[in-house]
Amino acid sequence: MYFSELASFFQKLETTDSRNAMTEILADLFSQASAAEIDKICYLCLGRLVPQYESYEFNLAEKLMFEVLAKAYGKDKEAVKTLYGRLGDLGGVAQALASEKGEVKSIKDSTVEEVFTKLWEVAGVEGEGSVEKKINLLAELIASLAPISAKYAVRIPLKKLRLGFSDMTILDSLSFMKKKDKSLRKKIEPFYNISADIGKIARAFKEKDLEGLESIRIVPGTPIRTASAERLPNAEAIIAKIGKCAAEPKYDGFRVQIHKKDQEVHIFSRNLEEMSASFPEISAATKKISVSSIIFEGEAIGFNSETQEFLPFQETVQRKRKYGITEMAKKIPLKVFVFDLFFREGQKLIDQPYHQRRQQLEEIFRKSQSDVFAIAEKKIFEQACDLEAFFQEKISQGLEGVVVKKLDAPYEAGSRGFSWIKYKREEKGALDDTLDCLIMGYYYGRGKRAGFGIGALLVAVYNAAEDVFESIAKIGTGLTDEQWMEIKKECDALKVEGKPARYKVHKDLNPQVWVLPKLVTVVRADEITKSPLHTAGKIGAEAGYALRFPRVMELLRHDKKPEDATTVKEITELYGMQ
Ligand code: AMP
Repeated sequence: MYFSELASFFQKLETTDSRNAMTEILADLFSQASAAEIDKICYLCLGRLVPQYESYEFNLAEKLMFEVLAKAYGKDKEAVKTLYGRLGDLGGVAQALASEKGEVKSIKDSTVEEVFTKLWEVAGVEGEGSVEKKINLLAELIASLAPISAKYAVRIPLKKLRLGFSDMTILDSLSFMKKKDKSLRKKIEPFYNISADIGKIARAFKEKDLEGLESIRIVPGTPIRTASAERLPNAEAIIAKIGKCAAEPKYDGFRVQIHKKDQEVHIFSRNLEEMSASFPEISAATKKISVSSIIFEGEAIGFNSETQEFLPFQETVQRKRKYGITEMAKKIPLKVFVFDLFFREGQKLIDQPYHQRRQQLEEIFRKSQSDVFAIAEKKIFEQACDLEAFFQEKISQGLEGVVVKKLDAPYEAGSRGFSWIKYKREEKGALDDTLDCLIMGYYYGRGKRAGFGIGALLVAVYNAAEDVFESIAKIGTGLTDEQWMEIKKECDALKVEGKPARYKVHKDLNPQVWVLPKLVTVVRADEITKSPLHTAGKIGAEAGYALRFPRVMELLRHDKKPEDATTVKEITELYGMQ
């Protein structure tokens, strides 16, 4: 496929805001793609060159892109800047300059493969003089492209390809490509859940349909999509739902999925981002585990070994950084409480019942004698009163609550189910539970806030059934002046013209600045109410859910993906519990 053809698809996708229409356009794109290129096309569609969990950096900020475009089109840097000031999008600038220049006759249209390889080459330049080299290489590529192709090729290194759909839409589209409906999605998704490489899935499916997917296996190095917990308000409800069960403390740190094959270690966040470089002590301890291949999961938490006390989340989370790692590792050492095992010595374990996975996990880690790893405490309960006592004990130890696990359940990769139930302190008074909300945009604000240029946020919850975000509150409190500035900065980096396609918002709520779905913030409210202004859980003419007295409790949860935000289903349940 020619890159110009792919760019035309991008153009169509960009101007569509119905998810169904997007699914059909993507399906059309995938049917035209060959099996050899469909993986690259999937990554490119999501604005990347590799799967989501692999990290790479172009290190080409806007400032450098001015130079790239100046060079590509023989313009003065200031002229590029001025045009950018007018258009507000460097992709648009490239498109305009390329159109001005007219058709490039000497160069034949490049294929997707060729452009992909060039972009990859640009990202890979390292060492002395690398900036100059990157600029030259990219300018050469951009100059050879037609206007629409140039527009998208520029946005990819800037990480600003704004197509507005997620990996889930890609799965729907793969089904659509074969069946003209979404019915195969539920057959394709389990393979994606155990091997979160969307390109690999698309390629296997394109090559040999569902039979092709049968060859997809769990392999160390490719993350497994994480399971999430449902919630219930008390011990009685939990025992009534799943009967005899295991309960573990809910450690308040961040989740790590750890892979080891021989001496190669990968640590993925809950978001499936590669974090190995940030946690040298976890990597070192993993290398010492006495198995040659393993994938397991746990919660990493700052721990003071002298006082034997856990550190609060605000301190633990400082370890999620890319710089100053050694220093911070000394200041806040981590302990990983391991709680699940997915794979061991080539054997897939996620389909085995929880109690068997747990048993094997204990076997391995009892022997490991590591300062870094500890086995998450676990107790079996049959009576609600005993479970309640365990919960109270954990609360008194400063923990968030407990995670209750169904004894015979497999690991539910990539989904939220009642195999795991979280019972948290706040769940007691359902009204003041915290919610993870997606920031959709912001309003400039009045009075003192007008000076900051941000006065309120519009936030949403996730409608998983439709893969869209629905507004639930407008929030103007809970943040200090510094936090408002910080959040504005984060939002501005993700600013887009017009409402992103997956946002459902009442027209009277339009924020002044729209933000791409990326930032998750922790919100507390007094009550869930109904309001005709919000779209959360809204069906037909009925009112949606809204939050009464919402306030921001914790600025941003970078470890959560937009799709990890509290779901409409959870809101409906919480509303019922009130
Ligand atoms: P959620 O992700 O909102 O479904 O809530 C469950 C979260 O609790 C997981 O993502 C883990 O990060 C965290 N957690 C803490 N302790 C445990 C545990 N013992 N078992 C499972 N998850 C735990």
